[in-house]
Amino acid sequence: MLHIERAEGVYLYGPDNKSYIDFVSGFAVSNVGHRHPKVVQAIKDQVDRYMHLAVYGEYIQSPQVLYAAKITSVLPESINSVYFVNSGAEATEGALKLAKRYTGRKKILSCNKAYHGSTHGALSVMGNEYYKDAYQPLLPGVEFIEFNKEADLLKIDEETACVIMETIQGEAGVRVPDQVYMQALRKRCTETGTLLILDEIQTGFGRTGKLFAFEHFDIVPDILLLAKGIGGGMPIGAFCANRDVMSVLADNPILGHITTFGGHPVCCAAGLATLSAIIEEDMMAGIDEKEALLRSELIHPAIKEVRGKGLMLCIQLDSFAQVEEVSKLCIAQGVIVDWFLHCDTALRIAPPLIISHREIISACNIIKNALTEYEMRAK
Ligand code: PLP
Repeated sequence: MLHIERAEGVYLYGPDNKSYIDFVSGFAVSNVGHRHPKVVQAIKDQVDRYMHLAVYGEYIQSPQVLYAAKITSVLPESINSVYFVNSGAEATEGALKLAKRYTGRKKILSCNKAYHGSTHGALSVMGNEYYKDAYQPLLPGVEFIEFNKEADLLKIDEETACVIMETIQGEAGVRVPDQVYMQALRKRCTETGTLLILDEIQTGFGRTGKLFAFEHFDIVPDILLLAKGIGGGMPIGAFCANRDVMSVLADNPILGHITTFGGHPVCCAAGLATLSAIIEEDMMAGIDEKEALLRSELIHPAIKEVRGKGLMLCIQLDSFAQVEEVSKLCIAQGVIVDWFLHCDTALRIAPPLIISHREIISACNIIKNALTEYEMRAK
């Protein structure tokens, strides 16, 4: 296992000062790069004021208020309320509870090969039996549909509380749905009074070339899940919705979702600096070009397909043995790659948004050399 001593921008450094290009961004977290100076400064400033004060919601804490206001300012008008939590899984939990509570319905639809976190509720909507079996019984009333299959949308009916879906499936091996499918999904949810929960925990804040991936499909969710990259390296998540929807958590019973550390002021300060940096430094401007560069560089006989959108990509190979070995070779040569929970035959490519063209080219050369070396060894 790799020992890392420090990290800066797109690089991780070992004890011997050996550098590694982080081509996975700590699993879609370090979108603005490691230790972005504005994020580090915001953390230091907030630590000098206060850290934890009370359970979330008891006092007015400026970092929470300012960050929520910043997030809603970049969202469609209908999503005007933000509930901060600690992680992606907790955002999933909060959203499932909110959908059940708001609709008064019990049925939940999720997708095969979905990943929404690892707590009991989030595990219940995971679309992979292998990871769930040992923890049964899980939440009742959860059914699964095939991602991007229009015929399955008929399973959404008047008894469905919500459909929870990644806008672009991540752990399935980066699956981008069709625009017509996403629009049909939105229509069917609206027709049946079902809340559409879009999980943008991996796609969120610029990774796909837009701040939120749902913008590519010209739809708006009822509930939006955020985490990972929104803290600039600090742990924070959020579920966001219309105020009318969110308000049902306020009473009957009161305190519909309680969290001690959710919206931690230091994490919110870091998050605000992160989102401000993405916008002010125009980090999404070059994403399409970077995707095109990656696609043009990643040509090799062993590569079956490069899938994905923006800087959320994967390289489809043949087998797990190949993926594992090639990953090791890449790491030895200074590029961090990985694979996916539900797709271990593809390499994960998700560098920080700030990666340069030169760094992309040099990382791609290392990947191609590793693929060639693997082929030669296998002969
Ligand atoms: N949703 C998606 C799409 C994810 O990729 C992840 C984590 O990989 C989660 C939810 C869970 O987030 P966390 O690990 O912060 O609980």
